[in-house]
Amino acid sequence: MKLPKIRELLEAIKSLLTKPYTSKFPYVPHEPYPSFRGQPKFNPDKCVGCLACEQVCPAEAISHRDIVDDGIPRRIMIHYTDTCIFCGSCEANCIADNEGIKLTKEWELSFFDRSQAYETIEKELQLCEICGVVIACKDHLKWIAEKIGELSFSSPTLYQSYLKGLNIIDENILKAYKDKGRSDRIKILCARCRRETTLTTK
Ligand code: SF4
Ligand code: SF4
Repeated sequence: MKLPKIRELLEAIKSLLTKPYTSKFPYVPHEPYPSFRGQPKFNPDKCVGCLACEQVCPAEAISHRDIVDDGIPRRIMIHYTDTCIFCGSCEANCIADNEGIKLTKEWELSFFDRSQAYETIEKELQLCEICGVVIACKDHLKWIAEKIGELSFSSPTLYQSYLKGLNIIDENILKAYKDKGRSDRIKILCARCRRETTLTTK
């Protein structure tokens, strides 16, 4: 019979005295490593609904739907957890200081019904006050106005959205302009209506 070597004997004795490397999952919850990249999650308080994450997602795991004819106009941001590859591009390119969507340590992705493998958040939309097309999410317009500061006062769409968001818009100003026949120019408008109202003299 071949006798075990000293080193193998020592290893055997050591393993008898130390804890096992394997965990008792699923009886004991698994704690991933700190650098583990798990499922990303939207943060509805930080996300401004700009769609940058949708543009950069290599797996097309982010999508959106704009609802304008049913209650408050809103954008539904959708993250499909079954197609996401946890690459982190969405977080890396998020304009909201990389806080609108963030990778988490969530790794448990099993589900019984694949059609339910998604999460959503909603952001309120700003529509053109003349034609009703979608301009952007209200939070996104606010984000731009804050980013460019006083320059936003060169764009009625930006400063009106910003002031309305702060509830300090003076409707009397709008009425005064209406009397002069120029009310449309200080409305929140899409690019097309802005051009048409600017070029049209009334
Ligand atoms: S982690 Fe990657 S694949 Fe998943 S949603 Fe973000 S960009 Fe898309
Ligand atoms: S703010 Fe960030 S998470 Fe929200 S839509 Fe833009 S890129 Fe995506």
